[in-house]
Amino acid sequence: MELANRIKKMQGSQTSAAAAKARALQAQGIDVISLAVGEPDFNTPDYILEQVKEDMSAGRGHHYTDSTGITPLKQAIIDYHAEYDKVNYTLDQVFIADGAKMVLYYTFQSLLNEGDEVLIPAPYWVSYVDQVKMADGVPVIFETLSSDNFRITPELLDQHVTDKTKLLVLNTPSNPTGAIMSEEDARAVAQYCLDHNILVVADEIYYRLVYNGHQAQSIAAISPEVKENTIVINGFSKAYAMTGWRLGYALADNKYVGAFAKLASQINSNPAGISQFAALAALTGPREEAVEAMRKEFENRLNAAYEEVLTIPGFRLDFKPQGAFYLFPDATETARLCGYESVTDLANAFIDEAHVVGVPGVAFGKADHIRFSYATNEETFAEAMKRIREFVQGKM
Ligand code: PLP
Repeated sequence: MELANRIKKMQGSQTSAAAAKARALQAQGIDVISLAVGEPDFNTPDYILEQVKEDMSAGRGHHYTDSTGITPLKQAIIDYHAEYDKVNYTLDQVFIADGAKMVLYYTFQSLLNEGDEVLIPAPYWVSYVDQVKMADGVPVIFETLSSDNFRITPELLDQHVTDKTKLLVLNTPSNPTGAIMSEEDARAVAQYCLDHNILVVADEIYYRLVYNGHQAQSIAAISPEVKENTIVINGFSKAYAMTGWRLGYALADNKYVGAFAKLASQINSNPAGISQFAALAALTGPREEAVEAMRKEFENRLNAAYEEVLTIPGFRLDFKPQGAFYLFPDATETARLCGYESVTDLANAFIDEAHVVGVPGVAFGKADHIRFSYATNEETFAEAMKRIREFVQGKM
């Protein structure tokens, strides 16, 4: 039987594909270092695990829940954002789902009609473009530049807005660049969106992972009008080392939450019960201590990894990341020095010959770059760069 056109027109996630390739090589006994996937190498903090054990024994999280999530977790999310961002939401403005990725899927499915345009600044996180296509929307991709600190400005948006523009995706701090929008730019862009009837989808999943004095603030904190015109997306995967629990959420007008709930009720009923209790424990336990300890460790890793990447012949990294946990050097010159036609070919050679997995920039709309996650420990990252350095030197 023929597969649906929907499947034919979309691409699988290239980060997942790179990670799968690394696992396949590892299964063959090859010592491969994977810097492909964005996930902390820490286990979920103990204070969360202890509480979850207690919850499980007490019979909590064993059953179906409301499609939008359990009330205590919604309340904890509201309390957290009131305290951390000084933004107030109500229970009907919170939607909990299995990962921020799933929340993004619900967002595009709920808001896009065929032909509606979604502005996506490049470099972008891999899933936005295909998720928009899966909802019959049209991704309108526009470039931001490392030489300009990857700034997104009203002037830039103005070049790409049409009467079909419905959404703008903002991801700050950004995966893959690590750039954080300045408050001034965020304010100007948010105002532009209000003036042009464009809803902002703000993916803030990395906003607690900011380094070397840089800060990030929820875009919803700008003003009540901006809050109303924004779907904030966040989750537990990155800041709490909880990728496996699959828990994320949206904060949005109840009109949107109602639409997501309708979809969720027919797709998966509700996010996993026990994961919701784990997320509740994450927020209500000694949260700040745990998040800060991991943030500090990532900061050390960034500072070491940044220096390591600069030792690779031909790699260019004009912009030092401010948040998230990726380095995204331009590798055009390295590909040329090694005799490859493209950075994608170079990235494949890194896997096959140097046994280091990065993700080719083409997956993020910047084909000349390559992305390495430094969420792994410093020694592993240094060993990966040593392999790449020796590989490149051997080819020159
Ligand atoms: N948004 C961005 C920018 C990400 O990098 C990721 C994960 O890599 C997600 C969303 C999805 O996170 P989750 O694990 O909550 O689905």
